[in-house]
Amino acid sequence: MQTLSVMAPIEVSGHRVGAVGTPDDLRTIAVTAGRPARTPDAPLNTPIVAASSFIAGGPMDYARDDSPTVRAFEDALGALEGGTATAFSSGMAAANAALDLVPMAGIVVVPEDPYAGTGVRLGELADIGRIARRQVDISDTAAVIAACAGADLLWLETPTNPLLVQAELAACIAGAHAAGCRVLVDNTFATPILQRPLAQGADLVLHSVTKAIGGHSDLLMGVVVAADADLATAIHSRRVSLGAVPSAFDAFLALRGLRTLAIRVERAQENARHVVERLREHPKATAVRYPGWGTIASFEAVGDEASAERVCNATRIWTYATSLGGVESLLERRRRHPHENPLVPATLIRLSFGIEAAADLWADLAAALDAD
Ligand code: PLP
Repeated sequence: MQTLSVMAPIEVSGHRVGAVGTPDDLRTIAVTAGRPARTPDAPLNTPIVAASSFIAGGPMDYARDDSPTVRAFEDALGALEGGTATAFSSGMAAANAALDLVPMAGIVVVPEDPYAGTGVRLGELADIGRIARRQVDISDTAAVIAACAGADLLWLETPTNPLLVQAELAACIAGAHAAGCRVLVDNTFATPILQRPLAQGADLVLHSVTKAIGGHSDLLMGVVVAADADLATAIHSRRVSLGAVPSAFDAFLALRGLRTLAIRVERAQENARHVVERLREHPKATAVRYPGWGTIASFEAVGDEASAERVCNATRIWTYATSLGGVESLLERRRRHPHENPLVPATLIRLSFGIEAAADLWADLAAALDAD
């Protein structure tokens, strides 16, 4: 785990960020980055600029390229991850833009247990010969590095969704680079508050902004953050040509959510630790998976699929719903989705911790387990 509350200074250009100086603590960056320049009567927050086109002569031009509210979000997220961010209309749109950089029939090394949507897309691309896929257990660093020989892209997701398998990030990145292979890290579960892959040498970072960054389960958005200018240009070019652009309204909501990311992650992580400690002792729960940090855990309900379904439907504070990273705690039996990876046990329940009181969350989950 890389818990980084205090970071080295991040270079941010004055005109793009408009915040004071170069703050070096992520909690400060989350609040100060991506604000309008400090001029009299300027709004504190970048407003929702609902415009598809801009008066000729300036840098904006057309909203598939660039627009003020989306740019403000990108500036803030880019400052948090330490790179140049390009926002997309969903996490999967961001993933497709990144995969579009792989040459025809290029080799992509991927986790054997990625997020189900990513797994489906990688399978579709492999089926039509667009890419060749090498699936690895990402906790086996030697196997990851060996698979990178001759590969074009190492796609890491750490921890994985929902099996919470972790990669040794720095070692995998160094090994991939030694083999001439680019590295992308899906950082959705960790968020930049708990893990910053670009600082460890990764080339690209991906987020489903829909999750913890947005933080309120009220928008769909994605982002790719690039470590260097050439990659940033290539990703931005895909945003323009593929056309998966977020709306100004969603960018505004995402930026508003990002302001409280650090405090929400800290609180949700406290809740996760509180509940997981008790879950490990509960006779109706087995195979509790939690890396010791972060805001997501999973466990297997004792019994069969029906037992797991009953637990999910019996809670009153936790809501049985898909997705994760919001202020409200959610739980879900993942294999209810036909496209979920068969490596995920049928009775596995994923827990996404919100910011409610820890004791209430445990009492509610324990009651649902006891009732079965
Ligand atoms: N990556 C991870 C780890 C996810 O959990 C998800 C969605 O659940 C995505 C990517 C895709 O994001 P979106 O649903 O915003 O398209």
